[in-house]
Amino acid sequence: MPGASGVNVEGSCDALCRTLVSQNGLQRETADISQSVLYTSLMGLLLVADNEKEHLSIGSGRVGLRNIGNTCFLNAVVQCLSHTRSLRDYSLLMSYRDEKFSKEEAKLMEGMFLSPAVPSASYCVFIFLIAPGLPVPAFSQVLSGLWDVNDGDTVVNPRQFYSMFKEAVPYFSGYSQQDAQEFLRFLLDKLHTEINRRPYIRRTGKEPEQKFARFRISEEAAAMWKKHMERDDSRIVDLFSGQLRSSLHCSVCSHYSNTFDVFCDLSLPIPKRGSAGGVTLRECLDLFSQEEKLDKDNSPMCERCNRHTECTKRLSIQRFPQVIVIHLNRFTTSRWSISKSTVYVSFPLTDLDLGCYGPVDCGPVLYDLCAICNHAGTVNMGHYTACCSDENGWCFYNDSSVTPVSENQLQTNQAYVLFYQRSNSTTTVRK
Ligand SMILES: [Zn+2]
Repeated sequence: MPGASGVNVEGSCDALCRTLVSQNGLQRETADISQSVLYTSLMGLLLVADNEKEHLSIGSGRVGLRNIGNTCFLNAVVQCLSHTRSLRDYSLLMSYRDEKFSKEEAKLMEGMFLSPAVPSASYCVFIFLIAPGLPVPAFSQVLSGLWDVNDGDTVVNPRQFYSMFKEAVPYFSGYSQQDAQEFLRFLLDKLHTEINRRPYIRRTGKEPEQKFARFRISEEAAAMWKKHMERDDSRIVDLFSGQLRSSLHCSVCSHYSNTFDVFCDLSLPIPKRGSAGGVTLRECLDLFSQEEKLDKDNSPMCERCNRHTECTKRLSIQRFPQVIVIHLNRFTTSRWSISKSTVYVSFPLTDLDLGCYGPVDCGPVLYDLCAICNHAGTVNMGHYTACCSDENGWCFYNDSSVTPVSENQLQTNQAYVLFYQRSNSTTTVRK
């Protein structure tokens, strides 16, 4: 939101200039404020702004969520998102900014909102201001409750948020048990739609596919990403979206081609194991990115042969998101039933290096775990919980109950969705 804070600072700067002018007894027209005074004042302003950010300061985050009827899936996911620092800060900061905007400013923004060439950042604030009945402010409100500095309530009731969410996504109506991963996808999509910086660019069905034969892979990928960002650009995209590359190799004519898809989570298969016990996250990733043979019936059209041919397909990560959501796909749907895998999958808490699944020579791409969504029980009788990390360690979130856990208790065969944040220690160049 650089634009919005820019507006703020500018306004404050103007006010500051007026104050300086009046205190010095100078007329505005004749005011000659030296650059150094302005600089010092501006720094002061920034410090004040920083302090105000501190004031927003937060509690421990160790607050539970009430189960309002089969809503453990929601509680677990919200806790995980609430402990994804960049999203938390964004949500908390927005609710803080709401209060700072006067009606005049809202009106101004309304004007901007209606004009076609709108600076993107003003959207968010405006939408937050005018749409209290939409899930984004309701979501912010839940997070504000969870991070309340007074820790007054030890339990937050997500009822309002949930009912707004269900209104927006009727699929989730009713009080039956839902899949946490599915809920996460719908929620992120809904939040994104509401704060999309480009809400008026309509998706126009199937667009003619661009041919990039003369481009290098990275250029092709960048062009596809740019195209995506022209329609879908929000804080959610900034944080959670990555780009997946699927490369096809025709077995008949040896033609190579690539397609690029945006992802908000990686859904990984779990390798089958005998009684030998667990597998590692790396093995799941290897299986995910392993070359796969496609027969004629399942392969896309080869551009050169101009027909369906046998081919091989390989998935890799072309663009890494800030937060990578890894879904351990424990549920397998067969023709007759859904079964759940309870294989133990071990995963690193820090320094998960995904570099080898990225573009060639992209170097290490490191992530640290910040939250785990667990699923216990069977397909039909399951329960979701979360383990989340904060500054003081890890806690186990089981609806309204919150208990500290040690790091060696985190890895269980119930781990279902893992939330990893890109670690700050590395500055990897994106290709
Ligand atoms: Zn071919």
